[in-house]
Amino acid sequence: MQYLEVHGHKVPALGLGTWQLRGAACRDSVEEALDLGYRHIDTAQMYGNEDVIGEVLQRAGVDRAELFLTTKLDNRNHAAQAVIRSTERGLSDLRTEYVDLLLIHWPTDYHIVDETLDAMMQLCDDGKVRHIGVSNFSTEQFREAAEQAPIFTNQIEYHPLRNQDALVEAARMRGAMLTAYSPLARGRVTREPALVEIAAAHGKTAAQVSLRWLLQQEMVSAIPKARGRAHLQANMAIFDFELSDEECQRIRSIAG
Ligand code: NAP
Repeated sequence: MQYLEVHGHKVPALGLGTWQLRGAACRDSVEEALDLGYRHIDTAQMYGNEDVIGEVLQRAGVDRAELFLTTKLDNRNHAAQAVIRSTERGLSDLRTEYVDLLLIHWPTDYHIVDETLDAMMQLCDDGKVRHIGVSNFSTEQFREAAEQAPIFTNQIEYHPLRNQDALVEAARMRGAMLTAYSPLARGRVTREPALVEIAAAHGKTAAQVSLRWLLQQEMVSAIPKARGRAHLQANMAIFDFELSDEECQRIRSIAG
């Protein structure tokens, strides 16, 4: 595993995304992922799976200090009281004393973002949240938020089919990481000819090349969602090869 250092905290660069994983499917994926060595899990209040993840974590008995657990506020929970209450409920479902990272999922109700961030900071002061961040924020919204609070990440859609240079740079300038969501473009990267060709040269798949390309970038982490041991294992098997500068440039040019 590769780690990023963000605000003095070690973060596993590769995590497991859990959007659309519920019930038994969620339980099986998270169990398999922990067994394979994943230690970074991404959930959200809107995913409706915090309780299942909590059950798995409790049963798995993984050292809490090794885990990096992220959750996100539901769009309806941006007022101060709702931030506090919904996060406390989430902690109870996740069966943990704290989450490593709490994000504003979407910049809805942006006019009260100061209030939302203040309440999130309150949770940090209370030891219930280690770090706070944002998701789907534009460069301007990210800059404004980072002026008010120590923003740890901006979680955005990022993969070889989508140029996000401006957002990546904005995060780095503030010492934040950029968390790439949908890093496989929900499976579309597997059909991109340039990725397939580069992958063949390394004996890897287009999905693995996409993840490797993201993680070779400074301060970028990725959270692919996968169901089933084969995909979970494949997504972890990206630390034994390296893309050349030319290959990275070629991948970068796909999105234009
Ligand atoms: P994704 O990770 O880009 O793609 C998931 C798809 O790729 C699934 O169909 C999966 O199939 C397939 N896949 C996984 N590993 C593969 C492999 N090695 N080879 C081929 N196909 C593979 O899409 P995503 O679920 O949209 O994004 C990932 C995570 O990002 C989410 O789960 C969520 O945690 C987060 N996210 C956040 C936001 C936000 O607003 N902050 C929005 C979207 C997503 P199987 O399931 O069959 O393995």
